[in-house]
Amino acid sequence: MVTRPLLTTESIILESQESARVQQGATVVLSISHFPGITFIPTPILPRKPRRQSILETLGTENENVENVPKQITPRSPEGLVITRRKESLLSVLRGEGFKTIRATRYETVIAMANMAIVNCQINGRNALNLKGFFLLKCPDLTPLAFQLIYLDLSFNDLRDFPMEILCLKNLQILKLRNNPIKVIPFEIQQIKFLRIFIIAFNLITDLPHGLFLLTHLEELDISYNDITSIPSEIQKLRSLEKLNIDGNELTSLPSAILKLNLTKISCENNFIHPSFWKENSLNSPQRLTQITSWFIVRNNLHKFYDAIPAKVQKLLKCTSKCEWCHGPKFGKGFRVIRSCDIFGASQLPVMFHVCSSSCYRNVKKSTYIPDVIPDKRIPLNLELREG
Ligand SMILES: [Zn+2]
Repeated sequence: MVTRPLLTTESIILESQESARVQQGATVVLSISHFPGITFIPTPILPRKPRRQSILETLGTENENVENVPKQITPRSPEGLVITRRKESLLSVLRGEGFKTIRATRYETVIAMANMAIVNCQINGRNALNLKGFFLLKCPDLTPLAFQLIYLDLSFNDLRDFPMEILCLKNLQILKLRNNPIKVIPFEIQQIKFLRIFIIAFNLITDLPHGLFLLTHLEELDISYNDITSIPSEIQKLRSLEKLNIDGNELTSLPSAILKLNLTKISCENNFIHPSFWKENSLNSPQRLTQITSWFIVRNNLHKFYDAIPAKVQKLLKCTSKCEWCHGPKFGKGFRVIRSCDIFGASQLPVMFHVCSSSCYRNVKKSTYIPDVIPDKRIPLNLELREG
């Protein structure tokens, strides 16, 4: 009963072949045992089909083939999708639509396999779970493994949102989310306190959250091939970080804070870091006169000589940032200057400095190394690269 539509399809093809052969005058004997097994037919579901598209297609097929089913279900969530597919598969079995049953139950089978893997992990007390390439739309419940899992691989799935189910894994050390359409890393990632290796390459990430920089045990971070445009200075908080891969993003420069890290390896290929980008990325507008005056007063401690300073002026003298070169006060945006460094095994990395004054700007331009970043660590600066 299940295979009826397939047999029909096969017989159509074979009939046309048969008629061609009959014309040649040959005798053809068809045997049912020679038909290919139905379970080996490649699935028509594309791995990266947008979810809304799948839902609409599922609904479309449903309306086409099952007229008697009331159309009250409009699934919006992955759960909704599964429910529809379950209903559909049951109805399909009753109606004998074999091919459709296979197509409709496929995702359920995948879910069942994922859950089996979790149960298997739980029963055998394993601490590694590999759900790579399941094309999962949603991460399964991982609470049964909350305290035992150390390694989790969810690469090559269809996860659109960062799987919050992971946050319950208190002892997780290695997390691989390579090749998923994830757009946002949540701030809550800081809850995975013991994370040492985090791979989220080939996703659609645009920003790095503050919470990521609170992972003090992080040794390896792979955020290559995303849509990241800048690396926050807070990256310097990752004191254990040894390997950083930022290939294939939209970075134009690196923050000077990166020089404070203790990396053994950095990879920064396929970004917008060619020297010809430097000029347009470090254009400076003139500083405001109030900013220059404030800087001069604070820098020379002149404000300490006056007993009374008007509130308005006091407000102006409050500086909010630090010069990345002299570590003194910086008012307003200051000046931006890019220099290239050979560091952490990479050459000509463009490092952006935000400095307080035109004198610091000149010092950065003139200097051949970076002083006092970390004692005993002198980072050589390259002279400006020739354009073109
Ligand atoms: Zn300065």
